[in-house]
Amino acid sequence: MRIVLLGMPGVGKGTQARLLSLRKGLVQIATGDLLRQEVENGTELGKTAKQYMDQGELVPDQVIIQMMEKYLDEAERKGGYLLDGFPRTVEQAKALDEHLERNGKKLDYVLALVTPEEEVVTRLAGRLTCLNCGATYHQKNNPPKTFGTCDVCSSRLQTRADDDPEAVRNRLRVYLEKSAPLVDYYRAKSILREIDASGTIEEVYDRIQSVLEA
Ligand code: AMP
Repeated sequence: MRIVLLGMPGVGKGTQARLLSLRKGLVQIATGDLLRQEVENGTELGKTAKQYMDQGELVPDQVIIQMMEKYLDEAERKGGYLLDGFPRTVEQAKALDEHLERNGKKLDYVLALVTPEEEVVTRLAGRLTCLNCGATYHQKNNPPKTFGTCDVCSSRLQTRADDDPEAVRNRLRVYLEKSAPLVDYYRAKSILREIDASGTIEEVYDRIQSVLEA
């Protein structure tokens, strides 16, 4: 299966993608996690990306598209993928379409997670992230078993630099300007499914599951 997850920052794409990957064996490709790894490793790509990420801006399309070619090819060999954070612009969506066409493949689903903006602001304000494995928690709604420590890999949890209120405001603005048009782009291709992303993690997962089963 080839699935794209769309939605505002903080809507729960990463959380749902991890569950789908664990429970359904889909290969999750999270561009934000890949970029944060590059930043941690101090690579040239990481240095370029950090300037944009810390401000809540998008990393330029060409940088992302070039990075994704390799990961998409790898995941294709494993039989499919779940894209979390890519595409984020219409330009990137067109590059993905070209990649799929070259390989004679198609997307199965584009799932757009939808929730009011106030809800995502609250979710981002309490978010804790494991920079080692990408797992995310919430101080109140989904705390780790041990304070400050990742349940999955025992690394220290951190608040992402771009989860501070000013960067969050910018990320939401950038989302509306650059990423929201993807909803219409995929609706026009009749592969868009909108999912109500309010409620608990399991409630949202069940809604996704019903769409995939149907
Ligand atoms: P995320 O973890 O998905 O919230 O992504 C964190 C940050 O990484 C974003 O705010 C962007 O700066 C950058 N980023 C992630 N994915 C992309 C993408 N597809 N295109 C451009 N920038 C991206």
